[in-house]
Amino acid sequence: MGEILSVHKTGFRLLKMIHGVDSAILPLHLLEVCLSVIQVYAGLFLTASLIDVLLAGAYGAAVKWAVCLLLVQLLFGVFHTLLKRKFRGMETKIWQLFYVWLREKAFFLDYETMEQPQVSEKILSSEIRSNMHGGLGVLLYYYCDMLRALLHILLSAAMVFYVCLAEPADAAGFLEALAGPLPSAALFGMALAGMAVGAWKVYGRFGERLQGIYAAHTGVEERIMYLQNQLLGNPKAGKIIRMYGMQEMIYRNVEKNIDESLDFFGKMCDLERKQETANKLVSSLFTVSSYLLVALKAVTGAVTVGAFTQYAGAMHQFGGGCFQLIACQGELREICTYMGSFLEFLDTDNLHAAGSIPVEKRTDGEYELAFEHVSFRYPGCEEPALQDVNCRLRMKGKLAVVGKNGAGKTTFINLLCRLYEPTAGRITLNGVDIRKYDEEEYRSLFGVVFQDFKLFAFPVWQNITAGGVRQDDKIREALRQADAREMVEQMPKGLDTYLYQDLEEGVTVSGGEAQKLALARALYKDAPVVVLDEPTAALDPKAEAEVYARFHQMVEGRTSVYISHRMSSCRFCDEIIVFDKGRIVERGSHEALYNAGGCYARMWDAQARYYA
Ligand code: ADP
Repeated sequence: MGEILSVHKTGFRLLKMIHGVDSAILPLHLLEVCLSVIQVYAGLFLTASLIDVLLAGAYGAAVKWAVCLLLVQLLFGVFHTLLKRKFRGMETKIWQLFYVWLREKAFFLDYETMEQPQVSEKILSSEIRSNMHGGLGVLLYYYCDMLRALLHILLSAAMVFYVCLAEPADAAGFLEALAGPLPSAALFGMALAGMAVGAWKVYGRFGERLQGIYAAHTGVEERIMYLQNQLLGNPKAGKIIRMYGMQEMIYRNVEKNIDESLDFFGKMCDLERKQETANKLVSSLFTVSSYLLVALKAVTGAVTVGAFTQYAGAMHQFGGGCFQLIACQGELREICTYMGSFLEFLDTDNLHAAGSIPVEKRTDGEYELAFEHVSFRYPGCEEPALQDVNCRLRMKGKLAVVGKNGAGKTTFINLLCRLYEPTAGRITLNGVDIRKYDEEEYRSLFGVVFQDFKLFAFPVWQNITAGGVRQDDKIREALRQADAREMVEQMPKGLDTYLYQDLEEGVTVSGGEAQKLALARALYKDAPVVVLDEPTAALDPKAEAEVYARFHQMVEGRTSVYISHRMSSCRFCDEIIVFDKGRIVERGSHEALYNAGGCYARMWDAQARYYA
């Protein structure tokens, strides 16, 4: 009972969510169910009346009943067709709702929560299972069937009771005794109980076997998706694949996984076919028994021959309703299990509470940012990526952050941008812990070019304004500062040119060109703090020199944080922080650090050899 309740708790919550998006969906489906049930009983009643008047030889009345039957069926048929047509659009809408809710939630979760392996697993598993079994779309379908079954049971119950309790015309023989109220109620009860037990067993047994097949199938669809999207459908991967002659190996991999997938679907269809046969067998046994019982009642004169179809139909509807109820419960249990993990994902809270204090608006850009004993460990990692970091960002100064690979430079920036929260210590803005500020307002302080920056398949102007208001002069100025203006002017539609080919016919930009556009995006934001993580890594030496030359102008009046492997860039900065193993080991100006002859001086000398 507890399991049944928990299934419907999930199911009703999902129905409520559908209703919240479109309040017409549920009432229209309810109307369709009611009409389809009324159609069946109106048909049964009219057919019985028609047969009765025919048997009585009243042909005039028979014509009236026949016309009535025809009109009623026609009317319901038209209504039904109209509703079904309307449902087609609704089905697509409901199907898509699942993906919209999934993406929407993923989009607004904080970055650190989203990175948790268990969170991405929940998304992937509910998405794959929903794709395979129909998810939200079929949930409504099964609820409608369940309701239809309940109505059939309720409406046919009176007729079933009547036919069971009807007394034979005379109580002489064996058949008459069998057709008596008690024996026939017992016979019907036995047939019904047999059918219910049979249906329950069929669903339990096949449900378990289906679950076993699904469980053994995990990973195959994900592998096919990866191979198809990331390898076969990705031109960049295509280059490497051809260069190293990896086609045969990848093709064999694809073939193996597709074979496994076909095998899975084969087994599933086979099992579903067997389940259907078992279901048919159980329901046919019940139908035959109930027809025999009504025939017995008609033969013994308990009911009229004309009413045979009516009562046999009612018995059939009653038993079919009970069977359908059990079948729908089985299907809903399966759907609600995987949709439950989808709801769990929707209920995932951000790891950290969002602050609400607004950030002080300053036209002079005088914000003070400081790390106070900050340590940080990535989720699931033993080693801390940052340890007891203390530093104050000098306002409107240029800060260089250097260190070997893995020293903690990017982590330092991730924490500064509040993509992660310190495991210990705090970061402050104007003396207040940054966790207390409204996240969006806090992030508006930063224009960042990450090492793994991304551009999108939108027009150039949209990539630069990144959701902000379009101001062409300002865009051109940002492009000029990032040395990308000429490049964009030469594109077929200038600022309106699409990037890449994903959404529209667009242009493909090189790594260096893309990096310049990402730089322009960071500059366009007009943020008081500019963070550049290896912003020239993909640029050729000439372009890099040009960006350096403009660097002062680019960050003028702002605080800038500059991360680079290229030590030469440190010369442009007022202060340098040297990271090693997650700690700040040295800080000061280029001259002071170089003269100190420590870590910084060794790194500088090691690279200076290549410049000489
Ligand atoms: P740098 O930018 O100086 O090369 P990072 O800040 O990227 O160094 O990395 C610091 C340490 O944190 C490294 O040991 C790295 O392996 C680890 N690290 C970085 N990003 C992650 C992540 N998302 N999950 C787990 N560990 C990470």
